[in-house]
Amino acid sequence: MTRISNSVAKNAVGLNQSEPSLPIVETFHSVQGEGAWTGTSAFFIRLAGCDVGCPWCDTKESWNVRRHADRSIADLVSEAVQVQPAIVVITGGEPLMHDLTDLTRSLHTAKLRVHLETSGAYPLSGTFDWITVSPKRHKPPQPSIYNHANELKIVVAEALDLEWAEQQAVYVSPDTLKLLQPEWNTPDSTALVFDYVLRHPAWRVSLQTHKFLGVR
Ligand code: SF4
Repeated sequence: MTRISNSVAKNAVGLNQSEPSLPIVETFHSVQGEGAWTGTSAFFIRLAGCDVGCPWCDTKESWNVRRHADRSIADLVSEAVQVQPAIVVITGGEPLMHDLTDLTRSLHTAKLRVHLETSGAYPLSGTFDWITVSPKRHKPPQPSIYNHANELKIVVAEALDLEWAEQQAVYVSPDTLKLLQPEWNTPDSTALVFDYVLRHPAWRVSLQTHKFLGVR
């Protein structure tokens, strides 16, 4: 599947056809649950569309882009401004299947800090204040993404994922935070990550704290 070509409205009911828009699964205000920014007030924009196919994906409803209506970028930015979060997190799905130039420009114009969560499987578009790259074994990142990664986050379901983590760590900057995150539904994954981080201090544990809190 190729990248979805542009951010101009695509047959969305009620949208001006020339108005930049993107297919959106949901927006919501919560705290960032994972990684270095855990606990930070965050407005999430979850874009539709993903062909990475992680078996343990907890947002499978996002995969089919046709199931989700477009929303105008102006509307998304307006909602984010009303919330006044510390950060806006653009996530998915795989958000880089879309051209994020217009969205990130508009969010920055509104003086919002913009973060990205991506598998890195598509070329980077847009400008960001923080980029989390979470590479997946079955659809590896574009090589050009590694230099932009502020944090490298590997989801660990089995021991092979730890080997994958070390393979990926070779490509990022020495300044990039390296995180191992247990896969929520895999009982042994927490022990795997905990033991590995004790023996490999270059890595940190990342937990899905929003799931422990019972929030989104
Ligand atoms: S990249 Fe993200 S949205 Fe896509 S399948 Fe994997 S976990 Fe799900």
